[in-house]
Amino acid sequence: MAQQEDVFKKIVSHAKEYGFVFQSSEIYDGLAAVYDYGQNGVEMKNNIKRYWWDAMTLLHENIVGIDSAIFMHPTIWKASGHVDAFNDPLIDNRDSKKRYRADVLIEEDLAKLDDKIEKEVAKAKKRFGDSFDEDMFRQTNPRVMEYTKQREDLHERFAKAMNDNNLDELRQIIIDREIVCPISGTKNWTEVRQFNLMFKTEMGSTADGAMTVYLRPETAQGIFVNYLNVQKTGRMRLPFGIAQIGKAFRNEIVARQFIFRMREFEQMEMQFFVRPGQELEWFEYWKQWRLRWHKALGLGDSKYRYHDHDKLAHYANAATDIEFEMPFGFKEVEGIHSRTNFDLSQHEKFSGKNIKYFDPELNESYTPYVIETSIGVDRMFLSVLCSSYEEQKLEGGDTRVVLHLPAALAPVKCAVMPLVRKDGLPEKAQEIVNDLKFDFATRYDEKDSIGKRYRRQDAIGTPFCITVDHQTLEDSTVTLRERDSMEQTRVNIADLHKLIHDNVSLTSLLRKLA
Ligand code: ATP
Repeated sequence: MAQQEDVFKKIVSHAKEYGFVFQSSEIYDGLAAVYDYGQNGVEMKNNIKRYWWDAMTLLHENIVGIDSAIFMHPTIWKASGHVDAFNDPLIDNRDSKKRYRADVLIEEDLAKLDDKIEKEVAKAKKRFGDSFDEDMFRQTNPRVMEYTKQREDLHERFAKAMNDNNLDELRQIIIDREIVCPISGTKNWTEVRQFNLMFKTEMGSTADGAMTVYLRPETAQGIFVNYLNVQKTGRMRLPFGIAQIGKAFRNEIVARQFIFRMREFEQMEMQFFVRPGQELEWFEYWKQWRLRWHKALGLGDSKYRYHDHDKLAHYANAATDIEFEMPFGFKEVEGIHSRTNFDLSQHEKFSGKNIKYFDPELNESYTPYVIETSIGVDRMFLSVLCSSYEEQKLEGGDTRVVLHLPAALAPVKCAVMPLVRKDGLPEKAQEIVNDLKFDFATRYDEKDSIGKRYRRQDAIGTPFCITVDHQTLEDSTVTLRERDSMEQTRVNIADLHKLIHDNVSLTSLLRKLA
């Protein structure tokens, strides 16, 4: 674990050193849990957004996008339940003065029990080899049975406390499980309190009676309140979806782990409107489809898992998370929720407007049910960055730091380099840049030795380096060096465009999903 933490620290400093992510307001000592994206970060972030947007809106005829405002009528947040219930239970340790989310402390405790069970199973698997019957072992091994029972009891107690909003019980679980503060190591806990996560501000001048408005904590509500506008003007028929990418704001209590938990972040959300009764089928569809979207990137299938929700929000009838294995464990990257007709019904009630859908096939009006897929751009960014980072030992004792980014997401697709800064090589290299730059993010680099230049591109994950040498002037060929294998091949300048395109284009990634 300590080793993993070390790796994570290195990734964070690499992100800064190579212009991916900077602490916000750094020269003023920073602003907690707020980050800025640098010259390479913004390109990669845009590529992630484009991959999501195109996968949703190009590959699904019945999904369209919108871009709604961050400020919305404050009653929207009353209707959605955020004003009254968008709370996290927080608890402080009196010795370290550190603040935690009570639910997260208990979830981590549950994960520890899971780990213990898996360790026993792995040990036995090794011991018994091919003859190992895993199901039998799980059902009969006394130690595994004991951990499993503990886990089930804890899980049941926790789910009940969360559903009942029973803060005393949450605290009691922490005491009974002897959970200690990771900083002070003590069990000196305060009471558990609720804390609302929405940021408030004022709109209008105070003299006319300013109105309290909120910075949206999710983009979804902008979709709900526009669903009928889109349906009518776009002549959409159920089932159909609306996609949106935009900023969201949450005053997170515990902001750690870099861009995993931010106070200002970006979401990519899609609400899929369906006939009542068909929601669980569509929930299953989207659960599978979203995982396919993730896996198509090739970061490693074993890095993903589903996590079904312990506490279903009061409006949901099914919910699961797609978790990704970060250096600090499996963590939620995306949520897929069957939200029933809760949000639309609430908006109908609070606005007093009829926002029912008229179904021409059934010849009746009703409130659609909704499946939501909701993913954080920044968390997605972090998962890509973490799983791509490698410190590679090379033959001859050298090391290189390389980002094995999926080529379609890499900030720079190719770098063109003259071997030396004379003999007309720079001019030839510029010529190639001028041809490629219309289709690919292309860099020109002539400083330092060629080896150093390759390393610089490896460190930002550039899939291809193109080197122009004296032979180029004679036969119009260049060396094309591939990032991961470091293999160099001699190719015709005329073939470069197609070779690069086939490897780095978003189209080839999207085709995997079709
Ligand atoms: P968590 O349990 O980690 O607080 P959540 O379940 O509240 O997350 P959702 O409300 O389902 O998250 O939001 C959907 C997605 O938005 C999450 O899967 C995550 O990728 C992203 N997200 C939520 N909160 C943050 C945050 N503070 N910083 C960065 N991304 C976030």
